[in-house]
Amino acid sequence: MKRTNYCGDITAKLLGTKQTLCGWVNSYRNHGGVLFINVRDRSGVCQLVVEPNSPFFDTAYGLRNEYVIEVTGTVKRRIEGAVNPNMKTGEIEILVEDLKVLNTCIPLPFDVENSRGVAEEIRLKYRYLDLRNPKMFSNLLLRHRLAQAARRYLDAQGFLEVETPILTRSTPEGARDYLVPSRVHHGEFYALPQSPQMFKQTLMASGIDRYFQLARCFRDEDLRADRQPEHTQIDMEMSFVTIDDIHEIVEGLMKEIFKTAGKELQTPFIKLPFDEAMDKYGSDKPDLRYDLQLVNVTKLFANTGFKVFQDVLAAKGSIYALRAEKGASCSRGHFDKLTELAKKNGAKGLVWLKAKDGKYEGPAAKFFTQEELAALKQTVGAQDGDAILVGSDANKRTCQTFMGALRKELVKNLPPKTDWAFAWITNFPLLEYIPEEDRWDAAHNPFTAAVEEDLPNLEKDPGSVRSYQFDLVLNGNELASGSVRNCRRDVQERILALMKHSKEDAAIRFGMLLNALEAGAPPHGGIGLGLDRITALLAGEESIREVIAFPKTAQAACPLTESPNKVDEKQLQELGIEITKE
Ligand code: ASP
Repeated sequence: MKRTNYCGDITAKLLGTKQTLCGWVNSYRNHGGVLFINVRDRSGVCQLVVEPNSPFFDTAYGLRNEYVIEVTGTVKRRIEGAVNPNMKTGEIEILVEDLKVLNTCIPLPFDVENSRGVAEEIRLKYRYLDLRNPKMFSNLLLRHRLAQAARRYLDAQGFLEVETPILTRSTPEGARDYLVPSRVHHGEFYALPQSPQMFKQTLMASGIDRYFQLARCFRDEDLRADRQPEHTQIDMEMSFVTIDDIHEIVEGLMKEIFKTAGKELQTPFIKLPFDEAMDKYGSDKPDLRYDLQLVNVTKLFANTGFKVFQDVLAAKGSIYALRAEKGASCSRGHFDKLTELAKKNGAKGLVWLKAKDGKYEGPAAKFFTQEELAALKQTVGAQDGDAILVGSDANKRTCQTFMGALRKELVKNLPPKTDWAFAWITNFPLLEYIPEEDRWDAAHNPFTAAVEEDLPNLEKDPGSVRSYQFDLVLNGNELASGSVRNCRRDVQERILALMKHSKEDAAIRFGMLLNALEAGAPPHGGIGLGLDRITALLAGEESIREVIAFPKTAQAACPLTESPNKVDEKQLQELGIEITKE
């Protein structure tokens, strides 16, 4: 190696020693003829000093930001007053005795140090510079460490890392496929996997018993703010397991991952049935760092004179309320905004009441009796000075959902009671009805098993059938999704039939898996954990793009490689593809 040490590792312990460092010029200053240069590598920065009479003064004088240098010198203590206690290397500096410029650098569009404040398009276009920023390096380092911890843990638990194909046939996970045209098989396409789901189940049929992979999953979705066309899952599957076995293994994995990031976790995680999550929090990924709960107040208004609630009750709908702590001092505009938020999430309107000096204020207050209002206040646990939000809808889920969106907004002003709130969300329904298409669809993935005792009702009352599907949520984020699967072909075919896949159609789309199931597949189940999100949460980042080396923009484009891009006419011809005008 050219270097003796990393820049960030030069401390007072090395006083008097001679060191060679290699790195980038982070900054330079001319202080009364003495040059101070900060040299940076991935470990940190170190200050260099070049005296006016140094034979390297001219070379040093010519340095600019991001020049690449190799420097040798003796470690000296900084003079008093120049010590920087905020820097790991802040006590020392290196008196330069040799200096080589290994490469120069053109003037750059932004300073590496301030790159995170630059517009994201620009950061992504110059990602090679952006990644020189110490926070970006620490994010990539964290991601690496977490991935290694996962590998070590899963290996110790007997999991085999198996790679599955990228060029494959569609596996449904509820998104559109990315397609790759085949040159050899004209007019035919591979699909990029939305997940390795069918392969990992097939590996169980192969007797692998425990599989994992840090798998790339490709989903062509209309991009929501923090989605990526490709993301990485810690993907797992295991044979002869119950839901509890899967949960235990994953809890151990999370403990190990969090320990790697210096955080202790308590296990087991709580289990929260889906219905209860919706009833109490209005979400299947509730942020349980906060206690605030929705309260079902439907019964309180059984004899109400308020027309809106009367209609909802006549339609067998629901009324839910939420306490907004200290909300009585909020302005009209604040409640207008909350009403808008509720509407965006499916509400027709929102009742809000301020509890003030034993009285109630709000546009709808006059429609309620004093008894109704007092009972409401008591039931939601509100006090004078609070506000109460009341939502109603003929459809219970709709009401829970928009009240859940309001809860998410209200907790922003509450102190969290813990840093990390994990929960397993369990007991999801197996199927959801799609009225526009008059068919049932998998609430999660189509391979999830139905609860055995509900199987007789599968065709009679599909909506009532419970499943072995579960999610893992953390601080309001869905971290993982998994299930125990169907291991019998006939049951799987009955479920696919409800989704309007005929036997023939199912055999075409899911043939590999169905064939494997009928050839002695063991009972099995698994899970896919979002590595990007876990890393982002542990890195304290809002966006998963901060923990992906080369992410795409929200428009699914890569400014760095300028992809997607047009291709040569010749390539198109080989593939037999003609581009139509819009
Ligand atoms: N394949 C599922 C997903 O990608 C995870 C699983 O059920 O294992 O969400």
